[in-house]
Amino acid sequence: MWPILFGVDRRSFLMVLAAGTAAAMAGCSPSSDSSTPAGGASAANSPVGTRGSFAPITPPSAVPVVVPTTPPAPPAPTPTPPPAPVVVRSVDPMVPGYPTVITQLNGAGSSLALTIDDGADSSVVAAYLQFIRSSRVKVTFFVNGSRPSWTEHKDEIATLIEAGLVQVANHTWSHPDITTISTAALRDELTRNETFIQDTWGVSGRPFFRPPFGRYNASTNQVAADLGYTMITMWWGSFGDAALLTEDVLLAQAQKWLLAQRIVIGHANYPTVTNLYGQILDIIRSRGLQTVLLSEAFPR
Ligand SMILES: [Zn+2]
Repeated sequence: MWPILFGVDRRSFLMVLAAGTAAAMAGCSPSSDSSTPAGGASAANSPVGTRGSFAPITPPSAVPVVVPTTPPAPPAPTPTPPPAPVVVRSVDPMVPGYPTVITQLNGAGSSLALTIDDGADSSVVAAYLQFIRSSRVKVTFFVNGSRPSWTEHKDEIATLIEAGLVQVANHTWSHPDITTISTAALRDELTRNETFIQDTWGVSGRPFFRPPFGRYNASTNQVAADLGYTMITMWWGSFGDAALLTEDVLLAQAQKWLLAQRIVIGHANYPTVTNLYGQILDIIRSRGLQTVLLSEAFPR
């Protein structure tokens, strides 16, 4: 690029360098966020020398131009443009990323992700653990660490995590409607629960976060993703048992929603479900479904 500058007088040459440096800095500025990568990469890719082929420009007198008094260093090599942002979950569980809302498993298949939330009733958590042990059905628990049931059964859960039958994920510490609390409060809810999960089982809940009540927005999603909770885990099918149901109603929900490639939600809050494990297992088996953990369905 240097020879092309030879016909340019020194003042214009320096201006060219200044302009090129400014363009390159804009292109690699860390403040360039993911929403504007193309423009940044384009500016960074513009060869500085091509600007020398323009006709020399006399700056307007009203616009002062600061000319360096010492010869500038040769321009740095054009930086490698940053990779285009790809909407993916974080590769490393500790790395922030972009939020992705999921309701089902990817592609075709016969997998089913059964996810159980809250743990308001410790005896229901215990019954689920017994069901998992005896049936080998896999369950991802979205825990609220403030519920004593998770601590009371931490050893059995640890054994099932080791066996690959259980996964634990983050449902906040105390189950607030996160669309009504401050960003700082949401961070605290997620971080406190993550710490609880790590301290209790030596694993991370990342990257799976389920917003309490299924209530979220773009802001809450980003707060979660900034903490490594990039998979905002919703569902496509529910036992409906966040409230107390009769057995008939709950079983009808199970028959309706236990389908291939679905994420199905239930709750460890009321004992109704504990009387239906046999029927639920029959539905899963008769439909040829293989239960999977979310970490298996969405490997990092
Ligand atoms: Zn919940």
